[in-house]
Amino acid sequence: LIQLAIPLNFIGFVYREIRQGLTDIEHMFDLLDVRAEVVDKADAKELKIQRGAIAFRDVHFAYDGARPILKGISFEVPAGKTVAVVGPSGAGKSTLSRLLYRFYDVQRGSITIDGQDVRDVTQKSLRAVIGMVPQDTVLFNDTIAYNIRYGRVTASDAEVEVAAEAAQIADFIRGLPEGYLAMVGERGLKLSGGEKQRVAIARTILKAPPILILDEATSALDTKTEQEIQAALDIVSRNRTTLVIAHRLSTVINADEIIVLKDGVIAERGTHGELIERDGLYASMWSRQREATQAEEQLKRVRESD
Ligand code: ADP
Ligand code: MG
Repeated sequence: LIQLAIPLNFIGFVYREIRQGLTDIEHMFDLLDVRAEVVDKADAKELKIQRGAIAFRDVHFAYDGARPILKGISFEVPAGKTVAVVGPSGAGKSTLSRLLYRFYDVQRGSITIDGQDVRDVTQKSLRAVIGMVPQDTVLFNDTIAYNIRYGRVTASDAEVEVAAEAAQIADFIRGLPEGYLAMVGERGLKLSGGEKQRVAIARTILKAPPILILDEATSALDTKTEQEIQAALDIVSRNRTTLVIAHRLSTVINADEIIVLKDGVIAERGTHGELIERDGLYASMWSRQREATQAEEQLKRVRESD
């Protein structure tokens, strides 16, 4: 209970800060980060981004001393490629993205971008090159245009609309009586999980970062929404170094490599075809998800024929 109460309190504080006009996202993350000991080194340098190659080397991590979450994780995301991380809930998938974004520091091993350890560069320069589409997007109580423009505050109306188009949310916005000026957030129009995620994708398209982290929503989405989101994600991740945490296996088929995380270690790795061939954990996750999808479609057909 205490664990819950503190962050909620803190979110209120962050929210007020934001309303007072401190609207840059790096600053928001700084605020969210108070509990962490993560600070820039005295001689921290600016990250010099070349093509955005990421390397995790023998990464060990625990939130608390007692329970190790990651136990020696090594993999690379070559520049411009896509690596997907799959695995059971609680396996440590989102933790990998938090370490790359440096919400926390690794306890052993290293994470580098273009050969530079994330601990040796300023957090500001690190976060400037990473676009994060999180599992749960927080919307501000403001217009939908404001919420999209948050990705790059200097973007013009036309650019905001192009981003919305690419994120497959433009039709939805045009359908609103007030269009781009519709108020959203807790005190405005409440968007579904899929709509919020597309707003986050539009933000990221405006930010146009060399590195992308996509943490897919766990909530069950209907097939149409899933396809729309997938199309948007394909656009945004093209030619960008992308780490995707995938709950829907349909989104990982085309990944250059799939990492299967389980109990803090890499249980399997390879392409979709290789892992199916192997007939292990990934293959069984795949067939289970296929069955669930088929059942869902069958159910829909039955309902429609009623
Ligand atoms: P996944 O994304 O694979 O579902 P996470 O990386 O979010 O898993 O979490 C891995 C484990 O770490 C889980 O057991 C989770 O409960 C725990 N965990 C996540 N965040 C924290 C935190 N801030 N403090 C303590 N434990 C945490
Ligand atoms: Mg997660």
